[in-house]
Amino acid sequence: MELQEFLKRFENCECGEMHECAIRDIRIGSGITPKTGEILKENGFPKKLLVVADQNTLRAAEGVQQALTEFDVTYLLYEDLRVATMNDVRKVEAYLQNGLDGVLAVGTGSIHDPCRLACANLQKPLCLFATAPSMDGFASYSAPIVNGNFKITYPAKCPEVIIADTKILAKAPVALKSAGFGDMVAKYIALIDWQVSHLISGEQYCKKVAGLTRYAVDSVMRLADRVTEDSEEAAAKIFEGLLLTGIAMSFTKTSRPGSGTEHIFAHYIECKELLEHKIPTYHGEDVGITTLQILRLYKSLLNVPSVRARKEENDWAEIEAVYGELAADMKKLNTPNTITDEIDPKLLETHWREIQEIIRSVPTLEEVEAKMLQAGCLTDFSQSGKPDKLIKEAFLYHPYMRRRLSLRRLLQMTDVWDLCKNK
Ligand SMILES: [Zn+2]
Ligand SMILES: [Zn+2]
Repeated sequence: MELQEFLKRFENCECGEMHECAIRDIRIGSGITPKTGEILKENGFPKKLLVVADQNTLRAAEGVQQALTEFDVTYLLYEDLRVATMNDVRKVEAYLQNGLDGVLAVGTGSIHDPCRLACANLQKPLCLFATAPSMDGFASYSAPIVNGNFKITYPAKCPEVIIADTKILAKAPVALKSAGFGDMVAKYIALIDWQVSHLISGEQYCKKVAGLTRYAVDSVMRLADRVTEDSEEAAAKIFEGLLLTGIAMSFTKTSRPGSGTEHIFAHYIECKELLEHKIPTYHGEDVGITTLQILRLYKSLLNVPSVRARKEENDWAEIEAVYGELAADMKKLNTPNTITDEIDPKLLETHWREIQEIIRSVPTLEEVEAKMLQAGCLTDFSQSGKPDKLIKEAFLYHPYMRRRLSLRRLLQMTDVWDLCKNK
């Protein structure tokens, strides 16, 4: 009921866009795992059910298997799924094409993402059983999937039902909870990029949805010192924050409200690591660190009274060389033109003050960094052993990886970029 009332508040929004969210039922509660089967039945889930999990998530979700006795369950069980690929999507699809009618995904990230795409492709119901408050993509309409070597965000769907047992969330590894916090602070950059793009390119923007993201990140920031505790209350609140930003993303059917240039920056690093067959670090861990790096850059712009802008100058041969094996996919996103081609440089000059106002609207670098430290987050890539050279390269070249405008990308059209790029 509460959910329906909340969703109603976004109906007939003055931005003119329809804000829909396909989530029908959200259950967050202490010790609710044994009720999983009951909740699925109440929501009309079919008897023939595919349960997707890995050893870690299934262990964390203790009691879930016993709760499904009234279902005819088939398991797709991974050892330790850290990277979701198109292959995994096909696997889930194959089960669904061979007699299974619905999916229960046990685990929020790599387990859930291929399920969201497969269930969207074949129009099957999906339930998420969350095991850790580690990232927010689970409620959105898009799923990041590795296809070949490139991580692409595909239009997918959000689950109809979400179950989160706070006893389980509280027991999640600290690194995953801190990662969830890192994924939340990223919203400050996402909100800057979205507003700046709206200002300069007229991209669709909704104040109300942006306000929802802002409310969610601010509430999670206030919990920073409790993130690493084994506390059901804190874990539940972080999960709720992640859920709200996920819903914000489903409202716009894009990841705009929850992901900005810091996410692309982290994706670049991840893709390059995949090429070297390195096991990626947690999404929220990387994204928290890139948030700090981008926030440092953005806040430094407050000291720049005005800018001179020009058409972006790109050395595509150099960019392709840097992208290496990823070049073909990158080129597709910049063909027949690149996103900044349509931007009039003059707009950056005339709107510079407003851009600075937008930057000023989010907390300071010092504040965000202090909260991240309290929340047990890493704040520098040297802590996770990522080489400086890769980070620098990712910082400089990541914007070409998505066809999306960010303040970071627009800076390349200004004279300040010549100063910041070498920092
Ligand atoms: Zn709206
Ligand atoms: Zn994220």
